Amino acid sequence: ILARGKDVCKRNGLLILSVLSVTVGCLLGFFLRTRRLSPQEISYFQFPGELLMRMLKMLILPLVVSSLMSGLASLDPKTSSRLGVLTVAYYLWTTFVAVIVGIIMVSIIHPGGAAQKEMTEQSGKAIMSSADALLDLIRNMFPANLVEATFKQYRTKTTPVVKSPKMASEEAPSRQILIYGIQEENGSHVQNFALDLTPPPEVVYKSEPDTIDGMNVLGIVIFSATMGIMLGRMGENGTPLVSFCQCLNESVMKIVAVAVWYFPFGIVFLIAGKILEMDDPTAVRKKLGFYAITVVCGLVVHGLFILPLLYFFITRKNPIVFIRGVLQALLIALATSSSSATLPITFKCLLENNHIDRRIARFVLPVGATINMDGTALYEAVAAIFIAQVNNYELDFGQIITISITATAASIGAAGIPQAGLVTMVIVLTSVGLPTDDITLIIAVDWALDRFRTMINVLGDALAAGIMAHICRKDFTQDTGTEKLLPCET
Ligand code: ASP
Repeated sequence: ILARGKDVCKRNGLLILSVLSVTVGCLLGFFLRTRRLSPQEISYFQFPGELLMRMLKMLILPLVVSSLMSGLASLDPKTSSRLGVLTVAYYLWTTFVAVIVGIIMVSIIHPGGAAQKEMTEQSGKAIMSSADALLDLIRNMFPANLVEATFKQYRTKTTPVVKSPKMASEEAPSRQILIYGIQEENGSHVQNFALDLTPPPEVVYKSEPDTIDGMNVLGIVIFSATMGIMLGRMGENGTPLVSFCQCLNESVMKIVAVAVWYFPFGIVFLIAGKILEMDDPTAVRKKLGFYAITVVCGLVVHGLFILPLLYFFITRKNPIVFIRGVLQALLIALATSSSSATLPITFKCLLENNHIDRRIARFVLPVGATINMDGTALYEAVAAIFIAQVNNYELDFGQIITISITATAASIGAAGIPQAGLVTMVIVLTSVGLPTDDITLIIAVDWALDRFRTMINVLGDALAAGIMAHICRKDFTQDTGTEKLLPCET
């Protein structure tokens, strides 16, 4: 028994360490909350976690570019277009299913109940219209400057413009009303006064394209995928660049293999640091609690039943074994709240534990981390309907359909970074006329829900790679094409 135990620990050492670090992080965080640390002390405490995030983010760019370019270049055009079409169709379909699961859950649990005054307090103003959000999505797909795309993405800036009363009266003179009256004081003094009922200054919002900090992964994915396809068509002439990308990909994976040993340590501080930072949990109100339970139930149903069942029916393989293989990636997703940052670990798990063909992983994973976010889509649908319930809005069937379509689109537009879904929620809310200000209602619990939905996003990508590897197995029976000829692969 001892020998077997030793063997299990040896094979799953990193995974066991990661599970332990999540537990230790939670315990340490709640313990230190009682010590009332100063903000300065908290920021020092968070440093090892910050280091983990930095390491992961550092690897995203070389990994996405090298994996997509070398992956697509090494496929023949027929195979790559078949894999591309199948993958994107599968992603869209499962995301839509996730939205439906969310809608069913929120309709059954009904977390919003009757309107509660204190919860409908409004603060802030609409930040962006859904048309602007859509334009940003398209702008991000076509970055004007590739270097800038590595650290900036497009986000429309909306600024309030106050129309002065003079402007308002010039534009709409008929709306300015003057009323004259007589006022008697002490029975003798008579005075005329004018009551000016000029409408209050009108506030309009002006939108202009702008950028914010953060890598434009969508733009980089589109560019690298296009380059990869073109390199594949160039044949022999494209070999030097393909060879370079393959070597880059291999070396990044080797860095990942070393860096993972730091991760359990970083996870402790990442999780404990977040718990130290969060608002007083008792302030989370009952409805918000039910809302969080609804999202988590939906994620569990989708992630632990629907997706694994789909995997089982398509591949006839045991989904539990598959999920066990990517457990470490799921823990990193829980710790980092970022599917892009988890990408290197997802790669490692799929190649080493689940033995997925690297040519498939190189395409399916980066595209999935960018456009396939089942957890985010489910949460966006639940949140929108929760906000409608809190405001006592009756949504009709057409509006529910609109929510399901826009939640799918909004999840595609969300970047794989912490709380990106909160921003694209505007698209869903404005599509059915719900108040965008009410996003503030769900912010208190979003940091926690973000971790769970990111886990489902990563799980969805990993299972998709398993399914694609099965469907396209005939196209990938042997190492053909340029891959086999390259010196760095041998
Ligand atoms: N944090 C999520 C991810 O990285 C995106 C989101 O839902 O906010 O996948």
